[in-house]
Amino acid sequence: MSKIKNIVVLTGAGISAESGIRTFRDTGGLWEDHSIDEVATPEGYAANPELVLSFYNARRAQLSTVEPNPAHEALARLEQRLLEKGGLLTIVTQNVDDLHERGGAKNIIHMHGELLSQWCRACDTKFKSAEAFTLESHCPKCDAKGKVRPDIVWFGEMPYFMDTIEAHILNCDLFVSIGTSGAVYPAAGYVQMARGLNKQTLEINLDPSEGSYFFHETRLGKAGELVPVWVDEILNA
Ligand code: NAD
Repeated sequence: MSKIKNIVVLTGAGISAESGIRTFRDTGGLWEDHSIDEVATPEGYAANPELVLSFYNARRAQLSTVEPNPAHEALARLEQRLLEKGGLLTIVTQNVDDLHERGGAKNIIHMHGELLSQWCRACDTKFKSAEAFTLESHCPKCDAKGKVRPDIVWFGEMPYFMDTIEAHILNCDLFVSIGTSGAVYPAAGYVQMARGLNKQTLEINLDPSEGSYFFHETRLGKAGELVPVWVDEILNA
């Protein structure tokens, strides 16, 4: 792996599991005891906006009770060392938490939005906020009431930064997927894109993902244990 300078890492809910944030898969299609249809679709929001806002308020509040784990920290260390060597680590995350940032990484693409970002549908402004929003809340920019929704990409909506992500995959030497079930597209298809471009590919996951057979190598186990070992391998190669 000594020639590897440019790495794209795709992360999913599994990398934050050891920090105490539950994945989708933990409970067979439930996320923190709610059905995904209820809290992660535009239809769910239209049907019951109070429920959806309160669900994301709780997820946002939960962030202050969790800490990055050794997997997040190891990726930050890899980013720093690659930069020093003239390389680049790009973290493409499906996660809406802020644990990569708090683990020290900087080059992060949140393709499914962020819990700490809000989106006013009245003035189409996005802004950072850790506050709880309800249907009584006013947009801090345009003052419209009840129009602020979580800046989260729900099922059926277009993920963010697709062109940028594809350009990074095109330019990488190695594509690594960590803690993702490979069930949610387009993220699940990135390994096939990487293979089509003759990139090296590695998966680190607790269980084999749905697209496991596309990877050159799969390492099964906890991200908090396996990611620091893999980072050391790359840095010592
Ligand atoms: P997922 O729940 O579908 O899959 C999680 C994967 O992580 C599973 O394959 C599981 O085997 C693996 N896993 C569990 N614990 C692990 C560990 N300790 N180490 C390594 N792997 C582990 O999640 P996903 O693939 O990210 O996809 C679905 C969607 O879930 C995303 O769109 C994301 O926005 C959303 N989500 C995000 C969070 C978060 O921000 N932390 C939490 C739940 C869901």
